[in-house]
Amino acid sequence: MNLILLGAPGAGKGTQAEVISEKLGIPQISTGNILREAVKNGTECGLKAKSFMESGALVPDEVVIGILKDRIAEDDCKNGFILDGFPRTVPQAEALEKMGVNIDLVLSIDVDDEVIKARISGRRVCEKCGASYHIEYHPTKVEGVCDKCGGKAAQRKDDAPETVVERLATYHKQTAPLADFYAARGKLKRVKGLDGVEETSKVVLEAINA
Ligand code: ADP
Ligand code: ZN
Repeated sequence: MNLILLGAPGAGKGTQAEVISEKLGIPQISTGNILREAVKNGTECGLKAKSFMESGALVPDEVVIGILKDRIAEDDCKNGFILDGFPRTVPQAEALEKMGVNIDLVLSIDVDDEVIKARISGRRVCEKCGASYHIEYHPTKVEGVCDKCGGKAAQRKDDAPETVVERLATYHKQTAPLADFYAARGKLKRVKGLDGVEETSKVVLEAINA
């Protein structure tokens, strides 16, 4: 199954992608995680992406499309994958169609902006493996330490309140129109993102019949 998770920053796409990935045994592909890794390693693509990410803007389409194309060509994607954070613009969605990728379902996790703003300050992300946590709703077993790999679970720089406002604006302007794009193709399902990971997983797994 090829799945897209759509939703505002902080709506819980990453966390739910992890849950689905474990349940279905297909990889989660997070362009945000791939980009953060590239920034950390100072690769050419990371250097291009850094300033956009830090200001809450989107990284240029051609950079992200290149990354995604290489990633889904890898062996582990043969039986399907979950896209978390891609596509984020109509041209990215069109590029995916041009690559001949068939998408089975696009699941939009809907959360109000006010809830996002309140929630995102509690978010923690593992600097090593990218796993996501929330100090209240999905805490690590040991504070600041990733359950999965022992890496440091810390606040992302772009989770600062000023940047979150920018990212939400970017989302409404550039990414939210994708819901119509996929609804027109009969692929869209919406679920309401709830304040608990397990409660949300329940509706998410139901929506994808997993
Ligand atoms: P969130 O969903 O919480 O906003 P992500 O980890 O998905 O966070 O993305 C972080 C940042 O990485 C984005 O704000 C953006 O700058 C960049 N990014 C990730 N995916 C894409 C994409 N598909 N297109 C453009 N920029 C992207
Ligand atoms: Zn980790």
